[in-house]
Amino acid sequence: MIKTSLLAIAVSLSMASGGAYAYDDLKNDIASDYGYLSDLFTHFHKNPELSYLENETSKRLGAELEAIGFDVTVGVGGTGVVAMMKNGEGPTVLVRADMDGLPVQERSGLSYASTVKQVNTYGDEVSVMHACGHDMHMTSLVGTARRLVAMRDKWQGTLMLVGQPAEERIGGAKAMIEDGLYERFGRPDYALALHVAARQPAGKIIYKSGLTYSSSDSVNIRVFGVGAHGAAPHTGKDPVVLASQIVLALQTLVAREISPLEPGVVTVGSFHSGTKHNIISEYADLQLTVRSNDEAVRAKLLAGIKRIAENMGRVAGLPEDRLPKVDLSIAATPTTVNDSDLTKRLDAVFKRELGEENLQTLVQTTMGAEDFPYFTRVNPPVPGFYFAVGGTPQADLDAEKNGGPAVAGHHSPLFKIAPEPSIKAGVQAMTVAVLDLMKK
Ligand SMILES: [Zn+2]
Ligand SMILES: [Zn+2]
Repeated sequence: MIKTSLLAIAVSLSMASGGAYAYDDLKNDIASDYGYLSDLFTHFHKNPELSYLENETSKRLGAELEAIGFDVTVGVGGTGVVAMMKNGEGPTVLVRADMDGLPVQERSGLSYASTVKQVNTYGDEVSVMHACGHDMHMTSLVGTARRLVAMRDKWQGTLMLVGQPAEERIGGAKAMIEDGLYERFGRPDYALALHVAARQPAGKIIYKSGLTYSSSDSVNIRVFGVGAHGAAPHTGKDPVVLASQIVLALQTLVAREISPLEPGVVTVGSFHSGTKHNIISEYADLQLTVRSNDEAVRAKLLAGIKRIAENMGRVAGLPEDRLPKVDLSIAATPTTVNDSDLTKRLDAVFKRELGEENLQTLVQTTMGAEDFPYFTRVNPPVPGFYFAVGGTPQADLDAEKNGGPAVAGHHSPLFKIAPEPSIKAGVQAMTVAVLDLMKK
């Protein structure tokens, strides 16, 4: 009885402040829409497309949103989808879902596993799989849109739903911004996104204020040499030896130049040179990934890579026009940082609506990266909030802990999530967040 009357007070309070909806009703509506969302998820899962090639995916996502009344534009920054709905005066809220699959051959054993092959942007045919859960993100976006359209009388402002290409190649968000996303469709007051998280309990909403993902920079270094016969090294300049020295010298950046309290990674993931045993080649190519949790550290690492590579070239006696060439323009994304005021506000909303037992604090365990910050790091910045939704049944996590089968992570051919609890939780969390930011 006490519980009921408290609930009645809580409902009347939220009506008084304008957020006139009952969370239980929303939950029931999501449950009754789940059949539709489940079919949509299966469709997306069975039909993955590679980064920059999400043509059919974006058409389907656009059609889903157009069918419920959004003004849809497809082809923004490549295959990007922008779906707008103006519902009176009020803030503009951007909700982003990424759309791309990965070049992975699915071995999940699911009845709806992908058997798709696609010719990639380099001309090779590869298997494709939604091995990162972007199918869940698109489904949650549509689920959220369907609820918000049904509840149009509960919010005011402009909804800006974004289907983003090429997150896996950290290029799609930048491409959409450079294609004039904000100039053409308006600048949002808030930007939101979610990511399903395998190896986290299904249905849990996981987030923290501040740093959420690391920065990531892909760097190419071409180390020039002077070709010669392998038996006459003194007549050339060996780029294999020089590039090897550079690889080792780069390791001093994190070890000796960055504060030991600041994480950083400089990984040389690829080293290619030469054609034959006895030929000193003309050049060596290095490919690096660089990660940091802080923009100042990031700048220091990138400047350090250039300094070391070029000066090692000088040490080797290369002329100024043959020094190693460092290319920082390949792919880059800054750190993803949740806005502290926005996080505080949505944390309160989640606690009230979803219940504290369904929330978890994000703990950074790797230096993974996201290109979502391209939507927020504009001038002036857009406050952003990015959260994870647990995707693995607790029973599977428990079984693994007790020596059972390992739970596959993202990008694995065995990757799978439990669609129902994660999609429902994703739609719930995103819907209550948007309703609060746009409440009447
Ligand atoms: Zn991924
Ligand atoms: Zn992903």
